[in-house]
Amino acid sequence: MFMESNLTKLLAFQGWIVIGLTFMEYGICFHIEFDKNEMECPHCHSIITELHQTRPILIRDLAVFGQVVYLRVPRRRFYCRKCQRYSTGGGASPAPLKL
Ligand SMILES: [Zn+2]
Repeated sequence: MFMESNLTKLLAFQGWIVIGLTFMEYGICFHIEFDKNEMECPHCHSIITELHQTRPILIRDLAVFGQVVYLRVPRRRFYCRKCQRYSTGGGASPAPLKL
């Protein structure tokens, strides 16, 4: 866990935490998760906490130390009880923090 929290600081993705790291033959893959399990419903603007489905997607990031970097990000689908609709999101795409 010590290494993962340092990686989170190193990568500085706002609102995202690094939960693991995999070395693959074609690059490095960071496993990241959003630190909140909720999102605002884009239809009725209430806060939804009911997670319906999570599917990981791979995003190619910039190369670091000559290695191709991938981010394994959960694509989360929430269900809003108020307007009875499904929404995907709960965190913007990971973008490096602007310093
Ligand atoms: Zn809603």
